[in-house]
Amino acid sequence: MALVGRANVGKSTLFNRITRSRAALVADFSGLTRDRHYGEGRVGNHPFIAVDTGGFEPVAKDGILLEMARQTQQAIAESDVVIFLVDARAGVNAHDHEIARLLRKTGQRVLLAVNKAEGMRYGSAASEFHELGLGEPHPISASHGDGVVDLIELALSYLDKEGGAPGAQAEETVLDLDEANAAFGDDEEEGVEGAEGEAGAHQHRIKLAIVGRPNVGKSTLINTLLGEERVIAFDMPGTTRDAIEIDFERGGVAYTLIDTAGLRRRGKVFEAVEKFSVIKTLQAIEACNVVLLMLDAQTEISDQDAHIAGFVLETGRALVVGINKWDGLDSHQREVILRDFERKLRFLSFAKMHTISALNGQGVNALIKSVNTAHAAAFAKLSTPKLTRILQAAVEQQPPPRKGIFRPKMRYAHQGGQNPPLIVIHGNALDAISDSYRRYLETRFRTTFKLEGTPLRIEFKSSH
Ligand code: GDP
Ligand code: GDP
Repeated sequence: MALVGRANVGKSTLFNRITRSRAALVADFSGLTRDRHYGEGRVGNHPFIAVDTGGFEPVAKDGILLEMARQTQQAIAESDVVIFLVDARAGVNAHDHEIARLLRKTGQRVLLAVNKAEGMRYGSAASEFHELGLGEPHPISASHGDGVVDLIELALSYLDKEGGAPGAQAEETVLDLDEANAAFGDDEEEGVEGAEGEAGAHQHRIKLAIVGRPNVGKSTLINTLLGEERVIAFDMPGTTRDAIEIDFERGGVAYTLIDTAGLRRRGKVFEAVEKFSVIKTLQAIEACNVVLLMLDAQTEISDQDAHIAGFVLETGRALVVGINKWDGLDSHQREVILRDFERKLRFLSFAKMHTISALNGQGVNALIKSVNTAHAAAFAKLSTPKLTRILQAAVEQQPPPRKGIFRPKMRYAHQGGQNPPLIVIHGNALDAISDSYRRYLETRFRTTFKLEGTPLRIEFKSSH
């Protein structure tokens, strides 16, 4: 979903409203894309990726403006639906007409949103915008929220009908997870616990996304993986917007590799023929259940690496980090680089880090083992009695501090979800529990269940 419109019509305001508004959620790939912002939104059960195209400058002829226009065109081409914002208070202007003309040329589905329409009657807000020739104008107020949910639902309903690539793909993830949950059963009292359930988890195909900025070695790793193994299926995308998925088996485990780099098959090998696409990366992260984040040991960690990692964190996906190009470094360099990477990636402490060489295969087996472990951890079943026992032992050893007159009392814990595991703790006055105590509990659960490679979420439910 791309948001376009001239400056000051309210694109950023709408963007902030429809993507979950915590600032960290908005992955801002400014280093790469100048003025585009990407964010993950959700209406009901429908996740989607929104792009704020920043300024739309149709008359741009050169330099930065031209680059921005190009980026905007790319965002439009990669989206399933475009929301074109105009300003109810300013009325139609020549610039709007020019953008409308360009949008009609792209053949994309466009929804015309008339912003800043709060407190205006429908007729006076919307009617003059019919002349843009883009169908029914939808009055909204990005800052007050009027009409926004309806607009997004309308946009998403187009994706449903078409089964269009990116949106539908994200939606499929939700279904897959439901299926996975059903297959594992809801009965917490039965079945395997924690990472001991690895064998059970592997009855599922592991959906793996290999992500990272250009030239870190993604295609090389994919070819190393696939060169040794049987490629079971390979579907060529219908359009450049569809991601390819490659099914393969390794060590008796079934994987689906979700492409991020615009891979194409050239003879026997896969190579990235397209430029790096942020949207494809975000979609692959949405659609997978384990992310393999690749970094280049021979260059510094960049903002782009950090942004991709940040988006992985927000989606709660299981994660393994591969530091590639470890060959050709002497032992002193290795020591310095490892220390540097470990320090900068401290915010990914749950994820296992591996040094590898995609080129000669060194470290790749261990890396894939960690992918399996992370997948098992993400789908682990945590029994209520065991969770409650761990909780009680943790509280006994270190009770939660009193806050004012409130002494939080935790009674029991149960698992509220998988991928990532969600632990719901029930009790009284749990609002008073501090972040550091939450982290303490997380560590206790994580170590007892041996949950490596997956984030862990804890939710507190107070009965009074
Ligand atoms: P952008 O340049 O298209 O991203 O526009 P912004 O989101 O930065 O908004 C431009 C200005 O319009 C800001 O001062 C906003 O507060 C204001 N604005 C945005 N949405 C609304 C709205 O629904 N109603 C009103 N009255 N003002 C709005
Ligand atoms: P992608 O853009 O992430 O798919 O990166 P590629 O797989 O195309 O790799 C980019 C460049 O890095 C190529 O020249 C590769 O030969 C090189 N490369 C990839 N993996 C390794 C590695 O493990 N060691 C070394 N020395 N070079 C590598």
